[in-house]
Amino acid sequence: MIVAMQEKATEEQIYAVIVAMEEVGVDVHRTTGTMQTILAGVGPTAGLDLTKFEMLPGVLHVHRISAPYKLAGRAFRPEGTVIEFPNGAKIGGQQVAVIAGPCAVEDREQIFAIAQCVKAAGGGFLRGGAFKPRSSPYSFQGLGIPGLEVMREAADTNGLAIVSEVMEIGQIKEMLPYVDCFQVGARNMQNFNLLRELGQGRKPVLLKRGIAATLEELLLSSEYILSGGNYEVLVCERGIRTYETATRNTMDIAAIPVLKKLTHLPVVADPSHGTGRRDMVPAMAKAAVAAGADALIMEIHPNADKAVSDAVQTLYLDQFEKLVAELRVIAQAVGRTL
Ligand code: PEP
Ligand code: MN
Repeated sequence: MIVAMQEKATEEQIYAVIVAMEEVGVDVHRTTGTMQTILAGVGPTAGLDLTKFEMLPGVLHVHRISAPYKLAGRAFRPEGTVIEFPNGAKIGGQQVAVIAGPCAVEDREQIFAIAQCVKAAGGGFLRGGAFKPRSSPYSFQGLGIPGLEVMREAADTNGLAIVSEVMEIGQIKEMLPYVDCFQVGARNMQNFNLLRELGQGRKPVLLKRGIAATLEELLLSSEYILSGGNYEVLVCERGIRTYETATRNTMDIAAIPVLKKLTHLPVVADPSHGTGRRDMVPAMAKAAVAAGADALIMEIHPNADKAVSDAVQTLYLDQFEKLVAELRVIAQAVGRTL
């Protein structure tokens, strides 16, 4: 159930409603936006008479949530979630964020050159995997913590926030000092134990759509994190598996406006994995911004063809710079900045 409080509701009134909700056995999640406080009650509300809550002082309206996800639904935060990172960069507001970096952190020279390029292009976020989920166990598996150490140095030198993939619960603690946002990869979208554990923390999580997941399944996965009290989740369209073989994955651009409608969570688009082809990345990046994405995550590398992973979909630095300039025009056309 959702209880929307009146704009002028007092703290005492809000507290009384929380107590009344807890009395009937629901878990209360609170969010206070610029206009009003919303209380989401998760739990046994099926036979409950909601008029009882409607009559409490300070309550504007009460309704049941019909969607299977409760906290991810837009009603919990109608104005949308804006996530602010330690470097001051935000995702979810009027400005479209740019997250860029290599598929995998390879060495100091590589990650410093990339970080400098991201900074110069006006991006706020450096991506890069240190723990890599590769399709083959014989492929490069990532540098691990030493990779994150050098990435942190490169990010700090350039005032960037770090997004990096966590593959299992055991990695969370050792990654915490280095990352500003945990990425959960497509292959782990339904690793529910990992999601629950990330919900216990207070570090933002970028959750990628599984290769065969519906958008409802993606939002239910985000719910595993949100229900732990970590409301800083970003959902990411990165292409799905279809019968089409011309691209590595099929970038579902329609997922972007659908997600924007269903959820308050910021929506990220990944045209690199979405296409798997360097020559198709710019078109899909532009389409994603036009479709309403709050951020783009893209793979870039100074020597893209020699990248140890995902080389064919990785942009050269000059291609990235040119693309960002073009994206600014698209952003402006749809009432955003970038
Ligand atoms: C990546 O970002 O490099 C990655 C492995 O992504 P995905 O989980 O979307 O395949
Ligand atoms: Mn990759």
